[in-house]
Amino acid sequence: MMDLDEFQNERLTDFSAADRKQEMQQAIQGVRRQLGNEYEIVIGGERFRSNEKFNSINPSLSGEIVGVFQKGSQALADKAVASANEAFEKWSRISATERVKYLIAVSRIMKERRLELASWMVIEVGKSWVEADADVAEASDFCEFYARQMLRLSAPQPSVRVEFEKNAMSYIPLGVVIVVTPWNFPLAILSGMTFAAIVSGNTAIMKPSSDSPAVAAQLMNIFEEAELPPGVVNLLTGSGSEIGDTLVDNPRTRLVAFTGSKEVGLRINERAAKHRNGQIWIKKVIAEMGGKNAIVVDEGADLAAAATGVAAAAFGYQGQKCSACSRVIVVKSVYDEFVQKLQEETRTLIYEGSVEQPEVNFGPVINERAQESIMAYIEIGRREGKLLMGGEKGSSEGYFVQPTIFSDVSPQALIAKEEIFGPVLVVIRADHFDSAIDIANQTDYGLTGSVYTRDRKRVERAIQEFHV
Ligand code: NDP
Repeated sequence: MMDLDEFQNERLTDFSAADRKQEMQQAIQGVRRQLGNEYEIVIGGERFRSNEKFNSINPSLSGEIVGVFQKGSQALADKAVASANEAFEKWSRISATERVKYLIAVSRIMKERRLELASWMVIEVGKSWVEADADVAEASDFCEFYARQMLRLSAPQPSVRVEFEKNAMSYIPLGVVIVVTPWNFPLAILSGMTFAAIVSGNTAIMKPSSDSPAVAAQLMNIFEEAELPPGVVNLLTGSGSEIGDTLVDNPRTRLVAFTGSKEVGLRINERAAKHRNGQIWIKKVIAEMGGKNAIVVDEGADLAAAATGVAAAAFGYQGQKCSACSRVIVVKSVYDEFVQKLQEETRTLIYEGSVEQPEVNFGPVINERAQESIMAYIEIGRREGKLLMGGEKGSSEGYFVQPTIFSDVSPQALIAKEEIFGPVLVVIRADHFDSAIDIANQTDYGLTGSVYTRDRKRVERAIQEFHV
């Protein structure tokens, strides 16, 4: 059996080192020289163009076209499923060890092209250098981790021993997996869900977000460079609302791996549950969706540490993470002091501007629609709370929104309930720790959460009672 070293997370790049900084600047220039290129749909190793195109736009400079992409049609969506289904016949019979070797090759290429991949994200989705670098690290971690998991899962599995019977248990691949992804972790999420599908013997169709197709095209290149057999991974760009249903409904689709909004995730879940003509199985859905994550700050907590943690969690990548903190719930005895520290920390930690500059850690939101939607929530916030900072659009060159904090917000307010998916943080007052946890749980979502306290018993209680 193949042996790999113990899994370890990739270290992040230290951009304070002068040579790393210079390499990143060169990588950004290298990507800049490729802006405006046209990319094709890839099905079964063949390239396809369609009559309708769409542009990917740099959110920091809204006039700048990152690339021109094909709008996939329903016919191409069905062709992609047919091709992935055909490739499955061979791929599913290749040994797990062979599949793992491909993944390790992909990981090696990703590491070699690390700063180039990060640069694509700086330009296409407005990530700071550090956030973009972490995205690539996470992507190659998925590769390395799933490779090792596959070796574990392909080994003989425990089964019940019964006299006069020979029993064995092994995991089998399913078939065609549709991978539908968001733009906010354009490499890590697309990679993670695709690697998991193919290393376990399935074939995949990547349907990336229409806001980050250039990063997806880079990943497709990497699969080709690693000489993955044609059809094992296919790339279908285009509007999710136009081709999503076709991919999900196709009777040959066996699993949909989705990350994105609750609305789209629930739609996929519902459609995939319907049996279609010619379908001989039940489809599976993996859906990772939105959040309205809270951090609880208890009396006696280290308020300086809490303020730093909350500012980073709320405004890292402009608050556009499913795991971003969008509510901070503070026990009333430390409320005023914490709010003061939070504002100071946000002013010190956050450097707004063009993310192509190394020191900038706060860039634009993804597109005009997002900017308008966030500004609409800010207008609602002006009525529902007290605006402490921000509240305006930033530089007009791109889709900027200032880091915004509202205090004295009711747990029932709209801005405390709905996912805003931008740099807007609400501060809520709680009478004591119990009510803080209760408020934290008053949301339709249950993704991530944190607690700052020095009381061990309360940590234990949060582990039990905070539904995240
Ligand atoms: P969306 O749900 O709008 O889009 C996600 C993907 O679904 C895109 O590729 C989109 O395509 C596609 N899509 C749209 N309509 C359909 C449809 N009818 N059928 C199939 N696919 C469709 O999410 P965003 O891209 O805006 O991402 C932000 C959301 O993702 C937030 O809610 C965030 O919380 C969540 N998220 C969750 C994570 C988690 O791990 N839980 C991690 C990261 C983000 P197109 O772009 O062409 O419209």
